[in-house]
Amino acid sequence: MRPSPTPQPTARELQAEIERLSGKGLSELGYCAGDLARTASLTWRINAIKPLRRAVIPGHVYQRPEILLGVADFIGDSYQLAKLCGESQAEAVVFCGVRFMAETAKILNPEKEVLLPAPEAGCSLAEAITAKDVRGLKARHPGAPVAAYINTSAEVKAESDVIVTSANAHRIVERLFAQHPKVIFVPDELMGRNLAATLGRKLGEELVIWKGSCIVHDKFDSFSIALYRKMYPGVKILAHMECSPALVALVDFVGGTGDMMRYVEKTRAPYYMMVTECGLGELARTRFPDKNFVFMCRLCPHMKMVGLRAVLRSLESPLPGQSVEVPVEIAGKAAIALRRMFELAEDVCKS
Ligand code: SF4
Repeated sequence: MRPSPTPQPTARELQAEIERLSGKGLSELGYCAGDLARTASLTWRINAIKPLRRAVIPGHVYQRPEILLGVADFIGDSYQLAKLCGESQAEAVVFCGVRFMAETAKILNPEKEVLLPAPEAGCSLAEAITAKDVRGLKARHPGAPVAAYINTSAEVKAESDVIVTSANAHRIVERLFAQHPKVIFVPDELMGRNLAATLGRKLGEELVIWKGSCIVHDKFDSFSIALYRKMYPGVKILAHMECSPALVALVDFVGGTGDMMRYVEKTRAPYYMMVTECGLGELARTRFPDKNFVFMCRLCPHMKMVGLRAVLRSLESPLPGQSVEVPVEIAGKAAIALRRMFELAEDVCKS
């Protein structure tokens, strides 16, 4: 039975919540007093109802700051969130991210209720390839294992041998090459080109790729990198693996979002520039207030669809579209490919 809607906070509770949010860094990010008051009335209610529903809220690093700093129980990249959702004891998962992520949570937690506050939040990469396309690739390249980026639908994962994220793609694909002369990587073309370059593999012959792209990362302009270096002497420039090879060749560090955060934490530089979705830079500013950040970022329209009202609605009385289901047969096959990723990624960490 669902609990009845949560009450409104008292004036004192609201003030305490405003101060909590401000202390978390929202004021630093430009939230004015009115923004904080509106945000606090929602975050207070969400945090009050969450334990009653035995729910957990994972938040992807590209989510809005009020989600990440106001209500998320854990924040991470695709790999970290998939792993943490699999380990969580909660009865419900309210996934603040996009559809393929919520599907992944459901595949790994078939017994849990998984809710996606913004059911229309998709991903240009996940929409770039279908299960039928993967079957076609396998027919054209018999014997070649399929490594699918986690940014894919459950149906595509079910057709794949192993799932990868930007944090482990290089190492897992490298391991596949130790046993196979040819590997299929889908669907991100730019990441595929970056992988071929770093692994020293011939595109098309050894590494077969697809033509999908991320609408956020494929637009960054490599020509402005030199300009930023002139404007900010000593700047360390970090780029996501979904950026173009031309840009990747000019930066100081390439990796997934978790890798980029760790790089900032462990290095000293007068400025950092994170070439990725804007949410990561905002989060970095709150985590490392003593470091200076220069922005070359873009917003993901899918990630930014998730708002606090939708999170509250999914907890109080979810709309039919907010509940995520994956057919059992597809979930079973997709889970095998995901578990293979965990095995290979953990193996890599131990070695
Ligand atoms: S940033 Fe790109 S890859 Fe990530 S959800 Fe948005 S469109 Fe998809």
